[in-house]
Amino acid sequence: MSQGLRERLLPSCKRVVVKVGTRLLTHEHGGLAPSQLERVVDQILSLRGEGREVVLVTSGAVGVGMGILGYATKPKALAEKQACAAVGQIRLMHAYDEAFGRRGVAIAQYLLTAEDFRDPERFGNIRRTTDALLKHGVVPVVNENDVVGTAEIKVGDNDRLSADVCHFLEADLLVILSDIDGLYTANPKTHADAALIPVVLRVTPDIESLAGGAGSVASTGGMITKIVAAKAVTESGSACVIANGFTSDLREIAAGAPVGTLFLPSEKKLGSRKRWIRFVSTPKGVLVLDDGAVKAVRDRRSSLLPAGIVRVEGGFASGTVVEMRDLKGKAVGRGLANFSAVEVSRIAGRPSGEIQGIVGHAAPQEVVHRDNLFLV
Ligand code: GLU
Repeated sequence: MSQGLRERLLPSCKRVVVKVGTRLLTHEHGGLAPSQLERVVDQILSLRGEGREVVLVTSGAVGVGMGILGYATKPKALAEKQACAAVGQIRLMHAYDEAFGRRGVAIAQYLLTAEDFRDPERFGNIRRTTDALLKHGVVPVVNENDVVGTAEIKVGDNDRLSADVCHFLEADLLVILSDIDGLYTANPKTHADAALIPVVLRVTPDIESLAGGAGSVASTGGMITKIVAAKAVTESGSACVIANGFTSDLREIAAGAPVGTLFLPSEKKLGSRKRWIRFVSTPKGVLVLDDGAVKAVRDRRSSLLPAGIVRVEGGFASGTVVEMRDLKGKAVGRGLANFSAVEVSRIAGRPSGEIQGIVGHAAPQEVVHRDNLFLV
């Protein structure tokens, strides 16, 4: 049954984000592995030959830079890691430019931070630039801007970064290529009976625990960040495949061959604006809801009306993403507020019919419309 699913789903995926991990592209003690890079480039171009659009998210800057700066292991100091990324990135991009160039294809470089995604204007700009590049037949190549990355503005890892790229692109498919075959029922290095899971219907807490528990696959392959990425994209309606880039081939994966672990998308594909609200934005304030309002938004999927709001925290303008919490402080969801913090505090607890009179201008009937409201 799962095979039929793959064959129906994957060939129809038009916009594809491919994420390539450091281990695939670099030698264990640093330095570029050019034959692997060439393989990736060939496979991406075959996908494009099938009429698909491909955006590449690449790691490897630090690994390549280690080779140049004479490190045999990843340096511990942040500034040294960033120095490796800075020298490695240009070498890495040069290699991609040469490899794609020999095949007659131009590439574009994106160096992004979490800040770029959180800001709705930048998020929109990245999308529009990408659309323009794809129209020109260019392959965008994305990495994190590691040089400026401090904890607050870092995406953190390229699995997450590739999910964010899927969001602005409304991609149909994310393929994460690493050095492990996919998600296993247990750590294959320590459990002889561990089995590869071919298809995951939904990323449930059970699935997350397979990747995150002590001594699990996570410790060997960074599986947890891949599962976080798979969850975010599949819940927005994109498919995701985690596969071994050494042994598998993108063409086969995209054709629906039984390779790696396929994470099925939810039925409803979200547009980039909703993906931004739900997965990318950082909430700027908090609305505390009474029990009735929690029930209404959770059980009846209603919009959030002012009557059920008991408190507002933080200062925010209208059109800002805010978090909703229950009376015990537990997160209920997040959504786009139609009013500023000052306005919400004035209309909180009041019937919707009074909103206009209180705020003094024509206004929506709800504080967060259900189309812009996402539950946790
Ligand atoms: N941006 C890092 C690099 O290019 C990789 C981060 C990651 O692989 O998650 O080396």
